[in-house]
Amino acid sequence: MSQMQHFPIFLNTRSGRIVVSGGGDAAVAKLRLLLKTEARIEVYASSADDEITGWAKSGQLRLVTRDVREGDLVGAQLVYAAHEDDLLDMRIVALAKRAGALINVVDDLENSEFITPAIVDRDPVTIAIGTEGAAPVLARKIKADLEARLPVQLGALARIGKTFRHAVEALPFGRARRDFWRDYYESKGPIAIASGEDAVEPALETLLVDHMSRTARAGHVAFVGAGPGDPELLTLKARRLLDEADVVIYDRLVSPSILELARREAHLIDVGKTGFGPSTPQEHINALIADHGTKGRQVVRLKGGDCTVFGRLDEEIDALDAAGVSWQIVPGITAASASVAALGQSLTKRGRNASVRLITGHDMQGFADHDWADLARDGQVAAIYMGKKAARFIQGRLLMHGASHDTPVSLVENASLPSQSIIGTTLANLPKDLAKADLDGPVLTFLGLAPRAAASQTSQMTQELA
Ligand code: SAH
Repeated sequence: MSQMQHFPIFLNTRSGRIVVSGGGDAAVAKLRLLLKTEARIEVYASSADDEITGWAKSGQLRLVTRDVREGDLVGAQLVYAAHEDDLLDMRIVALAKRAGALINVVDDLENSEFITPAIVDRDPVTIAIGTEGAAPVLARKIKADLEARLPVQLGALARIGKTFRHAVEALPFGRARRDFWRDYYESKGPIAIASGEDAVEPALETLLVDHMSRTARAGHVAFVGAGPGDPELLTLKARRLLDEADVVIYDRLVSPSILELARREAHLIDVGKTGFGPSTPQEHINALIADHGTKGRQVVRLKGGDCTVFGRLDEEIDALDAAGVSWQIVPGITAASASVAALGQSLTKRGRNASVRLITGHDMQGFADHDWADLARDGQVAAIYMGKKAARFIQGRLLMHGASHDTPVSLVENASLPSQSIIGTTLANLPKDLAKADLDGPVLTFLGLAPRAAASQTSQMTQELA
């Protein structure tokens, strides 16, 4: 979870009063922004810049040609101390606090209760960019990027759209209306406004008629692989589906930064299962998914890694088939792929292994059984999922079947995440090294693979994370 020191809100300034104390460059810069609001603006300055005097003359603000006094700030919504002088500014801070007004000291994060973000103005669409004061340069860059990307007519489209909101209530609440607006902003609106603002309203009318004649989309479940944790390893399709979902049903391994990508209004349901800990019974999950599908929702069933790997996918599909709900599978990057990438190795290699196995350390009955004799042969590579608790068991079986004590084994914890860690060991030392490392994240165990040049691997990782 991120920890925002500053929480962004949009303040209604319509009947508010905003006071700027100071008459120099800093005051002018803030006033340029503040004059875009509907607030009553007051400037206190014993001497004021020409630009400010000009604004006062044309009635855009009230200029008081003296310093702020006790009582002046009572009832002010916001106060800006813009003297660019610590002593003068701190006097205003004290006065503002006594008057109960929020105070900003220009270019002084420490003494400010609020900060003014960089703004991209497509009124009524306003985008505020803040970096907690950490990187004003970055904020300006993002602002410039957005300025270039957002058509100037976006504001006009939003304004005209707003007059149409009432008519759109003819469509059922939720998805149908969202689809309508998506169509408007992404396709029909921009096309219409290209031939002038007058063309937009008729286009909206045609679009509404079109959408009214559509039948409601049936419920649908997408089984989506969320990948190993790094949000950048999501597929584009996963992103889009998350963006459209009504309901997201997710497992414990799905990282919070991926859930952040779900639509804000989406209903997020945690059916997390810890390896051996408390869990939502599988039958309950099956019923839950089928239920949302039957009710016509667009459901994303989000599973860590790839949903077809140790994900109990088939049981969920059976439940949907029984309920007559349509579904699709969207593959994701499985932990074995992310982990082998972390090791700097490849899964298969000419002359070493022409096959690779994905095996599980435990199943419903307990520790899982495998063809140990085959796995014990030299050069075998297996990615062992859920292998932490079973490490000693696996070691025992393999040694019993003649595996060499120095067979390389690698452990990758939290593959693809900033907390990723890699341990290279051998079959003989596996239980000991695993216990010593005390890993509490998900761990993938690689039998038959060593980290490639451990040192250079670490340095490369640090570079990437830097
Ligand atoms: N469907 C998932 C696997 C689910 S089983 C996939 O395709 O990856 C859960 C096991 O996956 C964990 O016990 C662990 O062995 C492995 N795992 C999942 N995410 C991992 C990660 N980021 N790093 C290492 N192992 C991971």
